[in-house]
Amino acid sequence: ISEDRQGWSGNKMTGSRKIKVGNIYIGGDSEVIIQSMTNTKTSDIKATVKQIKELENAGCQLVRVTVNDTEAAEAIKEIKKQISIPLAADIHFDYRLAISAMENGVDKLRINPGNIGNDDKVAMVVEKAKEYNIPIRIGVNAGSLEKSILEKYGRPTPEAMVESGLYHVRLLEKFGFEDIIISLKSSNVKMMVRAYRMMREIVDYPLHLGVTEAGTAFQGTVKSSIGIGGLLVDDIGDTIRVSLTENPVEEIKVAKEILKVLGLREEGTEIISCPTCGRTEIDLIDLAKKVEQEFSTFEKKVKIAVMGCVVNGPGEAREADYGVAGGKGIGVLFKKGKVVKQVKEIDILDELKKMIMEDFKDEEDI
Ligand code: SF4
Repeated sequence: ISEDRQGWSGNKMTGSRKIKVGNIYIGGDSEVIIQSMTNTKTSDIKATVKQIKELENAGCQLVRVTVNDTEAAEAIKEIKKQISIPLAADIHFDYRLAISAMENGVDKLRINPGNIGNDDKVAMVVEKAKEYNIPIRIGVNAGSLEKSILEKYGRPTPEAMVESGLYHVRLLEKFGFEDIIISLKSSNVKMMVRAYRMMREIVDYPLHLGVTEAGTAFQGTVKSSIGIGGLLVDDIGDTIRVSLTENPVEEIKVAKEILKVLGLREEGTEIISCPTCGRTEIDLIDLAKKVEQEFSTFEKKVKIAVMGCVVNGPGEAREADYGVAGGKGIGVLFKKGKVVKQVKEIDILDELKKMIMEDFKDEEDI
């Protein structure tokens, strides 16, 4: 662990070194970077660029594409010209594809040096990465650990994952390369959390967090929130990728929400709403959904409470900036815990919006 390992730095306890990836930084005191991966054929430049732009608009800060053949490696050149966020190439085994991707302008590689073949090939990849200042992410996956490590541990375990990661790390270090980022992914949340915690104690390279094969939108969101969130809550992790069996834009939404909940992203609306109970006299579930939808693209940092009753609502939502508490066919609007006015149930959404927008009328948006 390097001596400059520090405590609080900026908003997060870092413990990691800072690495440049294209025009952004990962690790150190930089913000936690949101990333995703395209699911188009990389050689289909038009479709890939279109998806990257959608991801970028949603808030993705680094995008990875698979580079599984020569056409994909060559497509990097044109894709890079058309996008503005850094581009990472995902490569398995073939060092020539790694070299070609770097020559074509990729900003980061994901490759496991131990799988390239031999030291000469690793040396060639490292030499090129140094020449172009390209960091390498070592991506350990519990499902594809080295045979010797699996034999030693009998099955995938956090220790086995860390040992695998260190094996690849040491290979790069042997050639004087230290622009390294590490991921230790597993579909088992506990295993992944333990592996990352262990690795954080051993090296100070930035960590890319992710639960792999997390599942469909619902299950994957829960798994990722626990796995990624459970680490970030202790300031472990420098970049995150939420994996969902879904349109990757959905991954960005979940990633942003995880960061927002943990106070690692300052922008955006947070909705506080009560679970409803026997006191609820308005259609609160529908109203909360509508408020969330209405403010989903609002970039200012505001907390809006949507509460079921006047008795407990404003009190329970004291920390909210704005809010509404339901009564019989009515809604009571409040601001910073103080009642502003009473409106008819049918007008709640419009009036709430009006009250909030009034405060931001000099600034653009919604
Ligand atoms: Fe029930 Fe009121 Fe609490 Fe909502 S705010 S759960 S309606 S007591």
